Amino acid sequence: MPNTTTSLPNEITFASLNLAEPLMRAIADAGYTHPTPVQKQAIPLVLAGGDLLAGAQTGTGKTAGFTLPILHLLNARPAANPRPGQPRCLILTPTRELAAQVEESVQTYGKYLSLKSMVMFGGVNINPQIKSLRSQVDILVATPGRLLDHLSQKTLDLSAVEILILDEADRMLDMGFIRDIRKILALLPKKRQNLLFSATFSEEIKTLSDGLLNNPGFVEVARRNTTSELVTQSVHMVAQKLKSHLLSHLIKHNDWKQVLVFTRTKHGANRLAEKLNADGIAAAAIHGNKSQSARTKALAQFKDGTMPVLVATDIAARGLDIDMLPHVVNFELPNVPEDYVHRIGRTGRAGSNGAAISLVDSEELQHLKDIERLIKTQIPRVAIDSFVPPTHIPAEAPRPPRPQHGQRRHSNTTAGNRPPREGQNRAPREGQAPRNPDAAKSRQPRAPQSREPQAGQPRSGQKPRAPQSAPKAQPLLSEAARHQAMPQPALFSPRPAVRRGK
Ligand code: AMP
Repeated sequence: MPNTTTSLPNEITFASLNLAEPLMRAIADAGYTHPTPVQKQAIPLVLAGGDLLAGAQTGTGKTAGFTLPILHLLNARPAANPRPGQPRCLILTPTRELAAQVEESVQTYGKYLSLKSMVMFGGVNINPQIKSLRSQVDILVATPGRLLDHLSQKTLDLSAVEILILDEADRMLDMGFIRDIRKILALLPKKRQNLLFSATFSEEIKTLSDGLLNNPGFVEVARRNTTSELVTQSVHMVAQKLKSHLLSHLIKHNDWKQVLVFTRTKHGANRLAEKLNADGIAAAAIHGNKSQSARTKALAQFKDGTMPVLVATDIAARGLDIDMLPHVVNFELPNVPEDYVHRIGRTGRAGSNGAAISLVDSEELQHLKDIERLIKTQIPRVAIDSFVPPTHIPAEAPRPPRPQHGQRRHSNTTAGNRPPREGQNRAPREGQAPRNPDAAKSRQPRAPQSREPQAGQPRSGQKPRAPQSAPKAQPLLSEAARHQAMPQPALFSPRPAVRRGK
């Protein structure tokens, strides 16, 4: 059949972006036919040499949006006096996984160029990195913590940096990296090109970009606060203590082959992976307390289909290039409604259909309402008739308190008392005991506390609920009444008789 696609005369194509021929070949090899919106806008601005402020998140093609033009620029003006351990371009990312993926993209798009790249993050032995820095490195992709380790050991010199990129700057700030970033900025040459990519523009990001960027070009691609129509969303109302049982049931009953499950805490991710394994479902948890090799292995097995379930915290999953997943499960709803949109954006991409399933305890109804307000959609409550709750459930450890409603976990911390951060150099140094905040927490004596508070009582560490919130058993009914047009919610409880709805 003849190709009937015609290009509009003013359409921006890769050819019209004037990228060097070796880059065009690599783009063709990658199978990209057209630049994405962020690439169309960002590539010409970066090629022109100016600073850039870009609002784009994972999945928009942002990585190629900055990688392609910086490869072009560095290739077009070879370093006068290249020295080992003196990168010409520095890309900072919040997490190890994102760093690895960005460097992979640099290699993919730069494969026909002679530029050298390197990735650097904590949680792995520093010595191979020191060895690599003894050779030429044009592009360095790094997480801030390990970068500072190298700077303090004087194994790295930033005085030749011509281009700085902060990728997912908002997440770096959320994770408490601002002091590290400021330390790094102070060591860079004054004259350089700066690119800042961020999914959101908070006051903190504005302050950072005002101090960093010089008369920047501005690019913003559609925020995904709208969810894709290709994603079927559903909510299963279920008591917290039954969620892992229901999830096992759903995976087995529906024969799900690839499921990304989001939990709120690292500890919760571990427990859930253990429970699924005990139920005969291969699963691994991925979060900042895991060794880098464990994270890499889990991700590889998940991607190649040998391990059907990956349990992740938001931060660990951020930036993972695992698209077009058939199933994303919110084991707990996120505190920040926008994170729901990010999470479920993992499925239903690029024309394929996907399902986003949320397991919601009655205590999470306020979070559910906030999410529905954001996405301007009521998510259907769906009962799982085939699920029979177990009659006996072993007692569980108490859940850690949620941060205040609508807050990210670390947003209020100060440098002095902030918790360990994912993506930073957090693995034990040689000769050091492993640092595990969850383990440390479990060593603290706990006040006697039953896991489920009495109706209307706050959890320990939580603000008392506002007087207008209904007692624990009530919101399901009033919520259901508010969603008359939708299927009735099902409440799975340890006592089957309490099941409501259908
Ligand atoms: P990113 O937003 O950079 O994480 O990219 C998300 C995905 O989009 C990656 O898997 C890229 O390989 C892919 N991608 C980037 N640019 C294009 C393009 N122009 N056409 C098709 N896919 C692309």
